[in-house]
Amino acid sequence: MSYDPNNIFARILRGEIPANKVYENAHALAFHDISPQAPVHVLVIPKGAYVQMDEFTAKASAAELAGFLGAVGEVARQTGVDKTGYRLIVNNGENGRQDVPHLHMHVMGGAPLGRMLPRS
Ligand code: 5GP
Repeated sequence: MSYDPNNIFARILRGEIPANKVYENAHALAFHDISPQAPVHVLVIPKGAYVQMDEFTAKASAAELAGFLGAVGEVARQTGVDKTGYRLIVNNGENGRQDVPHLHMHVMGGAPLGRMLPRS
Protein backbone atom coordinates (compact mmCIF):
# COMPACT_ATOMS: atom_id res chain seq x y z
CA MET A 1 0.00 0.00 0.00
CA SER A 2 1.44 3.41 -0.91
CA TYR A 3 1.58 6.03 1.81
CA ASP A 4 -1.15 8.67 1.84
CA PRO A 5 0.40 11.85 3.31
CA ASN A 6 -3.07 13.15 4.15
CA ASN A 7 -4.04 10.26 6.44
CA ILE A 8 -5.24 11.36 9.88
CA PHE A 9 -2.07 10.37 11.75
CA ALA A 10 0.14 12.22 9.25
CA ARG A 11 -2.01 15.27 9.95
CA ILE A 12 -1.57 14.78 13.71
CA LEU A 13 2.21 14.57 13.19
CA ARG A 14 2.14 17.85 11.25
CA GLY A 15 0.10 19.48 14.03
CA GLU A 16 -2.84 20.09 11.70
CA ILE A 17 -5.26 18.36 14.05
CA PRO A 18 -4.90 17.96 17.82
CA ALA A 19 -4.07 14.81 19.74
CA ASN A 20 -3.88 14.12 23.46
CA LYS A 21 -0.16 13.39 23.68
CA VAL A 22 1.23 10.81 26.12
CA TYR A 23 4.86 10.63 25.05
CA GLU A 24 7.16 11.74 22.26
CA ASN A 25 10.74 11.09 21.24
CA ALA A 26 12.75 11.83 18.07
CA HIS A 27 11.17 8.97 16.12
CA ALA A 28 7.77 8.25 17.67
CA LEU A 29 4.66 9.92 19.04
CA ALA A 30 2.11 8.40 21.45
CA PHE A 31 -1.40 9.77 22.03
CA HIS A 32 -4.73 8.61 23.41
CA ASP A 33 -7.06 6.85 20.99
CA ILE A 34 -10.06 9.05 20.19
CA SER A 35 -12.44 6.11 20.70
CA PRO A 36 -10.90 4.02 23.50
CA GLN A 37 -11.72 0.32 23.61
CA ALA A 38 -10.19 -0.14 27.08
CA PRO A 39 -9.55 2.11 30.12
CA VAL A 40 -6.04 2.66 28.74
CA HIS A 41 -5.90 2.87 24.95
CA VAL A 42 -2.90 4.69 23.55
CA LEU A 43 -1.61 4.69 19.98
CA VAL A 44 2.12 4.74 19.28
CA ILE A 45 3.16 5.83 15.78
CA PRO A 46 6.53 6.23 14.10
CA LYS A 47 7.20 9.73 12.77
CA GLY A 48 8.29 8.28 9.43
CA ALA A 49 5.90 7.52 6.58
CA TYR A 50 5.23 3.80 7.04
CA VAL A 51 1.96 1.95 6.56
CA GLN A 52 2.62 -1.61 7.78
CA MET A 53 4.97 -3.28 10.26
CA ASP A 54 6.72 -5.38 7.60
CA GLU A 55 7.54 -2.23 5.61
CA PHE A 56 8.73 -0.44 8.75
CA THR A 57 11.04 -3.27 9.80
CA ALA A 58 12.43 -3.54 6.25
CA LYS A 59 13.08 0.17 5.66
CA ALA A 60 13.44 1.97 8.98
CA SER A 61 16.81 2.81 10.52
CA ALA A 62 17.99 1.22 13.74
CA ALA A 63 17.28 4.53 15.51
CA GLU A 64 13.71 4.61 14.19
CA LEU A 65 13.11 1.00 15.22
CA ALA A 66 14.51 1.65 18.69
CA GLY A 67 12.59 4.92 19.03
CA PHE A 68 9.29 3.26 18.16
CA LEU A 69 9.71 0.23 20.42
CA GLY A 70 11.14 2.37 23.20
CA ALA A 71 8.05 4.59 23.03
CA VAL A 72 5.82 1.53 23.48
CA GLY A 73 7.67 0.66 26.69
CA GLU A 74 7.52 4.25 27.92
CA VAL A 75 3.77 4.34 27.38
CA ALA A 76 3.29 1.08 29.27
CA ARG A 77 5.22 2.48 32.24
CA GLN A 78 3.67 5.96 32.14
CA THR A 79 0.12 4.65 32.05
CA GLY A 80 0.83 2.02 34.71
CA VAL A 81 -0.30 -0.94 32.65
CA ASP A 82 3.15 -2.48 33.05
CA LYS A 83 2.00 -3.37 36.60
CA THR A 84 -1.22 -5.14 35.66
CA GLY A 85 -0.70 -6.36 32.11
CA TYR A 86 -1.65 -5.05 28.72
CA ARG A 87 -2.10 -5.94 25.08
CA LEU A 88 -0.25 -4.67 22.02
CA ILE A 89 -2.07 -4.80 18.70
CA VAL A 90 -0.93 -3.77 15.23
CA ASN A 91 -3.53 -4.16 12.52
CA ASN A 92 -1.93 -4.46 9.08
CA GLY A 93 -3.65 -4.09 5.72
CA GLU A 94 -6.97 -5.39 4.52
CA ASN A 95 -7.17 -8.73 6.32
CA GLY A 96 -5.77 -7.12 9.46
CA ARG A 97 -8.61 -4.56 9.28
CA GLN A 98 -6.29 -1.55 9.40
CA ASP A 99 -8.36 1.63 9.18
CA VAL A 100 -5.69 4.34 9.36
CA PRO A 101 -2.88 3.77 6.81
CA HIS A 102 -0.02 4.95 9.03
CA LEU A 103 1.63 2.28 11.18
CA HIS A 104 0.37 2.34 14.75
CA MET A 105 0.62 0.14 17.81
CA HIS A 106 -2.41 -0.02 20.09
CA VAL A 107 -1.38 -0.18 23.77
CA MET A 108 -4.43 -1.38 25.68
CA GLY A 109 -5.00 -2.21 29.33
CA GLY A 110 -6.37 -1.01 32.64
CA ALA A 111 -8.84 -3.89 32.92
CA PRO A 112 -9.01 -7.57 31.96
CA LEU A 113 -9.24 -7.64 28.16
CA GLY A 114 -10.63 -11.10 27.57
CA ARG A 115 -9.51 -13.41 24.82
CA MET A 116 -7.50 -11.96 21.97
CA LEU A 117 -10.00 -13.05 19.33
CA PRO A 118 -13.53 -14.45 19.73
CA ARG A 119 -13.61 -18.21 19.35
CA SER A 120 -15.42 -19.35 16.25
P1 5GP B 1 -6.85 0.67 13.19
O1 5GP B 1 -8.22 0.11 13.00
O2 5GP B 1 -6.33 1.36 11.95
O3 5GP B 1 -5.88 -0.33 13.75
O4 5GP B 1 -6.97 1.75 14.34
C1 5GP B 1 -7.18 3.11 14.11
C2 5GP B 1 -7.46 3.75 15.45
O5 5GP B 1 -7.31 5.15 15.31
C3 5GP B 1 -8.86 3.51 16.00
O6 5GP B 1 -8.77 2.88 17.28
C4 5GP B 1 -9.48 4.90 16.06
O7 5GP B 1 -10.31 5.08 17.18
C5 5GP B 1 -8.26 5.79 16.11
N1 5GP B 1 -8.46 7.11 15.53
C6 5GP B 1 -9.04 7.40 14.33
N2 5GP B 1 -9.02 8.72 14.10
C7 5GP B 1 -8.40 9.28 15.18
C8 5GP B 1 -8.09 10.63 15.51
O8 5GP B 1 -8.37 11.59 14.77
N3 5GP B 1 -7.45 10.84 16.69
C9 5GP B 1 -7.12 9.81 17.52
N4 5GP B 1 -6.49 10.11 18.66
N5 5GP B 1 -7.40 8.52 17.24
C10 5GP B 1 -8.04 8.27 16.08
